[in-house]
Amino acid sequence: MKKLEEVLQDWEAVIGLEVHAELTTLETKMFCGCKLEYGADPNTHTCPVCLGLPGALPVPNKAAIESIVLAGLATNCDIEKRSMFYRKNYMYPDMSKNFQTTQGPVAFCMRGWLDLEVDGPAAKERIDLPEATEAGSYTAHIGITRIHMEEDAGKMNHIGGSEGRIAGATHSLVDYNRCGTPLIELVTEPDLRTPEEARLFMQKLRQIYLTLGISDCSMEEGSLRCDGNVSLRRRGATGLGTKTELKNMNSFKNLHDGLAFEICRQAEVLEEGGIIYQETRHWDPSAKRTIVMRVKETADDYRLFPEPDLAPYDLSDGFIERVRAKLPELPDQKAARYEADFGLSAYDARHLVEHRSTSSFFEECMAQASDQALAKPLANLIINDVTGYLNANDGVELAATPLTPARAVALVKLLAEDAVSSKQAKEVFAAIIDEDKDPAAIVEERGMKQVSDTGAIEAVVDKVLADNPDKVEQYRAGKTGLIGFFVGQCMKEMRGAGNPKVINELLAQKLG
Ligand SMILES: [Zn+2]
Repeated sequence: MKKLEEVLQDWEAVIGLEVHAELTTLETKMFCGCKLEYGADPNTHTCPVCLGLPGALPVPNKAAIESIVLAGLATNCDIEKRSMFYRKNYMYPDMSKNFQTTQGPVAFCMRGWLDLEVDGPAAKERIDLPEATEAGSYTAHIGITRIHMEEDAGKMNHIGGSEGRIAGATHSLVDYNRCGTPLIELVTEPDLRTPEEARLFMQKLRQIYLTLGISDCSMEEGSLRCDGNVSLRRRGATGLGTKTELKNMNSFKNLHDGLAFEICRQAEVLEEGGIIYQETRHWDPSAKRTIVMRVKETADDYRLFPEPDLAPYDLSDGFIERVRAKLPELPDQKAARYEADFGLSAYDARHLVEHRSTSSFFEECMAQASDQALAKPLANLIINDVTGYLNANDGVELAATPLTPARAVALVKLLAEDAVSSKQAKEVFAAIIDEDKDPAAIVEERGMKQVSDTGAIEAVVDKVLADNPDKVEQYRAGKTGLIGFFVGQCMKEMRGAGNPKVINELLAQKLG
């Protein structure tokens, strides 16, 4: 099978996403008063309504409607004042009502969009860069068809098979606690062109939902789930190929890798003259392939019809405006504020707001620093060292580390005052985490001090030049790239304590 980058030379991938989010922060279910609680004993949160017993009547959860309107406003959707619920009929043991209550052609939120800033390695998958803003980066405008409301089904536990799968199981148990959990499903236009764009879209949407506080967005626990629709067309073609639907992409990596595999698989089928069938496929991350689950049902199979027990919705302007007033500052707005208030680059601002913990940490630091000039070094510390540490130690919360805002500010101040070199600053950072001490104490204990004294550095520079006469000759003959070698040797002599600026200046003088 060809590699993705090779496939994308000849083929354009057309990708759309369907993203389900459970409104986990609500107290109760969508149409009844049962408590929403993850991990409770099986079948302890059920009632006649969510079990669909005869005569039980649903009552919509107002807080859930508020949540979906918030999601729509935050993703630039039009809020439809008039919409209604439908019954989607199917029989499966995880849904004792035999139908799912969902929305029809008109949902609460319609016609939205999100812009994705794609840069770095993520941008490389895109071969036909649309209006590249700077080298290798671009903005992808992704349309959102709709966000509709629906309820979740119960959970099947298959016993006796491997990995809880139905294949090989001796029997299955049903837990109806999840039945009737409010879900919002966002459907994008087929505007995504690469697996990286799909991953970035999911990451951005997750940030927005977390900021709104409407879901805990755990891809592992399934409160945020994503299906992908993929089809291919020859570069330059405008029609749409037959699409497959991909399931089980329960992490950002699986989303990317599953889509990448499916694109390569389809290309192989098409290049061999085969046909793509409209079907649902399951991504198996351990085997690194997709497997057919079922041939796709059409909407007709579900006998979608208006829910007779729920009146059509009429959202008032007052309600929509009350919800709009609750909108918090969204990640894009926060990034724009960081650029304007702290003079940060768009790149730094965007990466700081990726996680709420890092952005609030940055703001606490800036409040304590009361010096705008420290914004850039603080951003560097957080984006590189702090994020690197958190990523390497999966699951560690920034607030639980010994790095307090006061210590971060003290560290970047030492750096800004040239008291420590950038290499020493990294050592101090590691020591703060390992030893739970203040930067000043660490510098004191380890006798760290950046040497900026010209006399002391000059002696080292002279020694390095005297020790390497051949390299000096090569440099003077035009091999100026050797400057890095000389700086490195001086730093080594000074055990990383030399001020690189002074070293560079002296070297330039003496070699020039
Ligand atoms: Zn209930």
